Amino acid sequence: MSDTQTNLVKRVVIAGGGTAGWIAAAGLSHHLGPALEITLIESDTIGTVGVGEATIPTQRTFHAHLGLREADFMKATGATFKLGIEFEGWLKPGHRYIHSFGTLGRHTWVAPFHHLWLHAKSRGFGGSLDDYCLELKAARADKFYTAPDKSVLNYAYHLDATAYARFLRAFSEQKGVRRVEGLIEHVEQSSETGFIEALKLQSGERIEGDLFIDCTGFRGLLIEQALKTGFDDWSDWLPMNAAVAAQSEATGPAIPYTRAIAHEGGWRWRIPLQHRVGNGIVFDSNYLDPDEAEKKLRDAIDGPLRTDPRLIRFRTGRRKRAWNKNCVALGLSGGFLEPLESTSIHLIQRGVADLVALFPYHGVTEDLANLFSRKMNRELEQVRDFLILHYKLTEREDSDFWRGRKAMDIPDTLAERIALFRESAYAYHNCDELFLTDSWVQVMMGQGLYPTGWHAVGHMFPDDKLKGALDGQRAQIERAVQQLPAHEDFVRQYCPVT
Ligand code: FAD
Repeated sequence: MSDTQTNLVKRVVIAGGGTAGWIAAAGLSHHLGPALEITLIESDTIGTVGVGEATIPTQRTFHAHLGLREADFMKATGATFKLGIEFEGWLKPGHRYIHSFGTLGRHTWVAPFHHLWLHAKSRGFGGSLDDYCLELKAARADKFYTAPDKSVLNYAYHLDATAYARFLRAFSEQKGVRRVEGLIEHVEQSSETGFIEALKLQSGERIEGDLFIDCTGFRGLLIEQALKTGFDDWSDWLPMNAAVAAQSEATGPAIPYTRAIAHEGGWRWRIPLQHRVGNGIVFDSNYLDPDEAEKKLRDAIDGPLRTDPRLIRFRTGRRKRAWNKNCVALGLSGGFLEPLESTSIHLIQRGVADLVALFPYHGVTEDLANLFSRKMNRELEQVRDFLILHYKLTEREDSDFWRGRKAMDIPDTLAERIALFRESAYAYHNCDELFLTDSWVQVMMGQGLYPTGWHAVGHMFPDDKLKGALDGQRAQIERAVQQLPAHEDFVRQYCPVT
């Protein structure tokens, strides 16, 4: 073997065993296992953040790459299916819309479907845009169906975060990951290069490594406390800085979508699992006191509580570099954008996939670290803009909080997208972007941004032909939804918690 083929980076140490730590362990051990020695350190005395229960469809791709059986994963995590998020009161109190994981109608090659629909509306027909989306209609009807490898619906999951970490731990240990229980007390760095050499535990044990993955949560023990990487604070745009979370008993069938319910100082989530419901209230503590937030949450929960409400504080933004020296930050240690569109678990999985692809076998280089950091930064910026959109387009005037959101300055990238859509209904996604065109359209229209102009593609069709085609699409979706089983019944037979 020549020198350049020597595997210089072999010992990978993952600090932290929350969702991020075990996703990293599962992904690295499955894809690169025989080439690496992977150790994960976690501390029972510190525990995990324990929330993070709604996901997006990319999770299915990650699981497929690991070869996981969907029903096994769902049974182990009490999971239900998720077809989208319902935003209640975001435009104004009493208003609601769903951002689904589906596509809207049949796109033409010249322009996406919503241009045809806008033309139809201007001619007095076409119905509601929602009627052209199978996932959205299935969500509203509480229906669901999938079959291994041939689902007609695009979906994600609601899951128990603690059980998910446990499930991935069993998977990773079986692939050879060594787990060490203990408290990391000291990060040893080279006095010459600043690279991390070892983690010293309270027990006295010293764990050496070549590459370190920081999954220690908000504290960023390696990436920030040791390496002083720095943080880009995005709280001017995304001012949420706290949440109170509590689990409750289910009081009815689990619905196949997350509820995001706006209130005067932020919003509240409701996530139905098979065996319980996850609830939380997200707020800006400049506008809402944590005690008031807890009271609001308690008042809103419909079933008996299973856990005491727990306050979690956070800051929105991202680490300046996701990969600094020989340390890669994944999960909350790398940044957090608030849970509005359930993107954190996706971002961890995206980071692991990039790390697998860019793994520095022959030694950590500045170029690899730069490329990885650039990719993560870009992905986070795109998600950030999508989240800000929900707040910026509000018409709420009932509190200083919402008036502030409406009036805030926004990134130029987002301002341009909003202007384009308003003028011409033009919506797009960049080739590496998580949220696709139809997601942007659903949220922009859901938030009341109705374009003043649109593509002329509708003029290609006589009204009666276009009307016939649109009626046909709507009827087809209606029939398909009628044939689907109830979500609750499907879950019970497909993947019941035993
Ligand atoms: P943590 O769960 O905090 O884990 C940190 C780990 O580091 C623990 O194992 C701990 O023991 C270990 N550790 C720390 N310090 C030491 C030490 N000194 N020695 C040894 N071990 C140490 N994401 C979604 O995708 N969907 C959602 O719906 C969603 N909702 C959220 C709601 C809220 C309010 C918040 C705050 C987050 C939400 N997230 C969501 C994000 C999601 O919870 C996290 O991305 C995910 O749980 C990953 O967390 P983590 O593993 O990075 O950190």
